[in-house]
Parts: sequence; C-alpha cells; structure tokens
Amino acid sequence: MGAELEGLSRDARAVIDALLPPPTQSVEEERDRRLAYLAAGFRLFGRYGFDNGVAGHMSARDPADHDRFWVNPVGRPFSMIRVSDLLLVDSDGTVVKGDGQVNLAAFAIHSAVHRARPDVVSAAHTHSRYGRAWSTLGRLLSPISQDACAFYGDHALFDRYHGPVMEATEGEAIAAALGHHKAAILCNHGLLTVGGSVEEAVWWFLAFEAACEAQMLAESVGEPRPISPEHAAATARQVGSPEIGRLSFLPYFAEVTAREPDVLE
Ligand SMILES: [Zn+2]
Repeated sequence: MGAELEGLSRDARAVIDALLPPPTQSVEEERDRRLAYLAAGFRLFGRYGFDNGVAGHMSARDPADHDRFWVNPVGRPFSMIRVSDLLLVDSDGTVVKGDGQVNLAAFAIHSAVHRARPDVVSAAHTHSRYGRAWSTLGRLLSPISQDACAFYGDHALFDRYHGPVMEATEGEAIAAALGHHKAAILCNHGLLTVGGSVEEAVWWFLAFEAACEAQMLAESVGEPRPISPEHAAATARQVGSPEIGRLSFLPYFAEVTAREPDVLE
C-alpha cells in the first residue's frame, strides 16, 4: 500500500482493505493460494477463448524457492486445468514437480521475466484474439476510457518479431522491453502481463485484452477522444493500482470455484 493508493479516497481504501483476504501466514498457505488463483485464472482464460492450440501460458513464482515457478503443462486445455496439473519448473527448465511437459516458449519468456523482475510473482501470455490483432499495429494503447487508463504510462511495445520464442535470448529481450511496466504488446504475436500477485497478472490480462478490443471497436467507427494526460495519469493511479488489480480478480475467483470446484483438486 502507499504511493499506489494516493489517488484513492479514505473510504475507498477502507473498502479495499475489508475485501482483500488477509495476508497468508506461512509459505505453504501462500503456495496454496497462488496455485488456486493460477488454476482459476486458466479456467477464466479458457472461457474467454484465450487458448490457441498449445500456445499460451501463465506462471506463478514459488514462494519458497524464488528461482522456480509453477506453469501449465503443454497440451492441457485451459478450461480443464486443476491445481494438481500445474508443473513446478526450475531455473534450467527441468520439471521438478508434476507430470507433463513445459512449453519451450513458456520457459523462455517466463524464466526471463521472473529473473529480470524480482517484484513479479506472476506473468501471463496468450495469443488472445484482440491482443493479437492489436499487436500487428505496432502502437501503444491510448487512454480512451477509464479502464484503458490502467495501462497509461504502464505498458510497453516489444517492437520486433523473429519467429516463435524458443531461445533464452528472445525471452530476455522481451523482459528488457517490458521494463518496469505491468504489460507489454509483443508485436505480431500477442500480449504479456505481469503482477506482484497472481490476481494482478490475471486481471491485467483480461483488462488489457478488453482495452485492445475497445480501442479497435472505437477506431473502426471514428476517432476516439483521449482522456487528457493529467486525468489519465490520475486515473491510472487508481484503476491501475495493484490493490485494484487484486480486488478485481476476486469475484471471478469466487464464481469459478463455486461453479467448477474441481479446479482446486
Ligand atoms: Zn506466444
């Protein structure tokens, strides 16, 4: 908390504090929480149609061994992923827990991002429809709506495409382009989001994809009026804060776990 919340009123802060779950009390509890959120995030991605063959992956850093992260097994549909399906991968790309294969691109991208950004707990990348289409334009998103302001001054462009990401050096280049931001548009490829929690990475991905869709819709019928830089920056400090990212994911988590309790198996 602190600087990110400077744009929020005291009442808003009180509401957020009351709604966010209390901090976990042990490494095991924190791991269980991250894996539950990660598996539920995949169910959401499945519903939104973010699968594309065997492309797409999301990771969560292990709370005990920070060089290792949990990721989806290649070939498992997002809509069927359970906590027990998730793989723990070490810094060499070896699966040290779980049954399955890790996607080479997943390892190249996620290992580089986790290494470059110690503050990042989770990263998400898919070839979602609107993100993929927007990524062909080589442009950052504009602050044309309140929701889009979450990414104002906080997303980057990875402005080259050299084929599928299979090499560590390409993952490192993506991590460098991401910089300190929460999201990146990978040109001619798709979207990438990160967060200091799994909740944030998932929510920012849903929001980033929706912002691409909204700007494409608006530009297809006219010339959208951007929000002024001053108001976009102030709005970004509110709707783009980590706390709002975490909070925004929680209703979805409640709904997914209620309707599809096997996600936690
Ligand atoms: Zn990809």
